[in-house]
Amino acid sequence: MYSIWEKNSFIHYNCIIIGSGILGLSTAISIKERSPSTEILILERGTLPSGASTKNAGFACFGSLTEILSDIKRNGESETVSLVEKRWKGINMLRQRLGDEKMGLLNYGGSELLKENNITALDEIGHVNHLLRNIFDSDTFVADERKINEFGFNKDVVKSLVFSPFESQIDTGVMIRSLIAMAQSKGVMIINNYDAVIDDDSANTVKVSAKNSGVTFTSNKLISCSNAFTSSILPQIMIKPGRGQVIATKPVAGLQFKGVFHMDEGYYYFRNYGERIIFGGGRNLDFTGEETSEFGTTDMIIKSLINILGEVILPGREFEVEMTWSGIMGFNESKLPEIIQISDNFTAGFCCNGMGVALASYVAEQLSESGF
Ligand SMILES: Cc1cc2nc3c(=O)[nH]c(=O)nc-3n(C[C@H](O)[C@H](O)[C@H](O)COP(=O)(O)OP(=O)(O)OC[C@H]3O[C@@H](n4cnc5c(N)ncnc54)[C@H](O)[C@@H]3O)c2cc1C
Repeated sequence: MYSIWEKNSFIHYNCIIIGSGILGLSTAISIKERSPSTEILILERGTLPSGASTKNAGFACFGSLTEILSDIKRNGESETVSLVEKRWKGINMLRQRLGDEKMGLLNYGGSELLKENNITALDEIGHVNHLLRNIFDSDTFVADERKINEFGFNKDVVKSLVFSPFESQIDTGVMIRSLIAMAQSKGVMIINNYDAVIDDDSANTVKVSAKNSGVTFTSNKLISCSNAFTSSILPQIMIKPGRGQVIATKPVAGLQFKGVFHMDEGYYYFRNYGERIIFGGGRNLDFTGEETSEFGTTDMIIKSLINILGEVILPGREFEVEMTWSGIMGFNESKLPEIIQISDNFTAGFCCNGMGVALASYVAEQLSESGF
């Protein structure tokens, strides 16, 4: 039973958003920018945001050369160019919204390490640069083999290196805290530890309750930004979870590289974090096992990351792994972001496929257009 004060000030909103990851927070901010008086509540089931947004490796990237070539194979050239453009626009919207300092953005560029098995990608650089000419104001990718030595990678494994000046690294924690602070400064209410279920979206007022709370909230509109966990609220939507495992080293004395790095169509990615290395990936070693929404790490993938780190990235160098963790991403068939109208007052947004840092601000802007 509520008090009159609770009933009048806490229970009803113009819009409820489920999920306080980068997409939920960005959507709330976009709606507030469009319509400052809209009363918004974000419901988050974790004490902290508990999906991908605080668990990634902190890349502001739009797709490496081999990732883009693989996207072209799947979706064709024009769909792929349009997706890269959305990622690039999203990164720039986020930078404009927060400013580089409030997302810890550092622009050292990004590189892809090409091994024997994908060296033919070099033949496609000219064509891909041409396709992306309207997005970037100079060549997106440049082969630069001298950097293999400069960065200290294993020359026997790394046959070429493709550099892009447009990629940056961010501090994911600083970025999400800044988005939370910005949303709250605009009057957005955020309630944590609330595992939301939708009671009723058929009438003018949507009802949301929780598995772990007696409080039921109501609103005129509902937006789900629950990413990999969407199917537990909306079983009809096919978003599969994909776990990403990550390791972080202790500081490595005299680390020779700065920037963000990719290997094997984006299945492996690493970066410097000061003098440390953050290295993630390996989902392709066990697609079935990693199609899970359970957090955790496996010996097989962590060992493979440590092996690659020792053999390819830091050959002959001492390092020590200090931390391991995982994040849960969401994947759909097309690899494209989706906005799905579930009913007149209920929309689900999905920016997806391991590229939500780049895409969220763009998708949020589109979500905010639905009725505000
Ligand atoms: C290891 C790793 C590396 C990555 N690398 C990159 C990269 O290089 N570039 C890039 O752009 N992106 C990358 N990503 C992906 C990016 O982090 C995600 O795409 C993005 O964070 C998704 O944001 P989101 O808000 O849609 O989802 P999430 O961050 O997953 O947020 C969804 C939120 O909804 C909450 N929630 C779910 N169900 C409920 C419910 N019923 N009730 C209440 N709350 C609920 C969850 O707790 C969660 O906090 C990576 C991700 C990982 C894990």
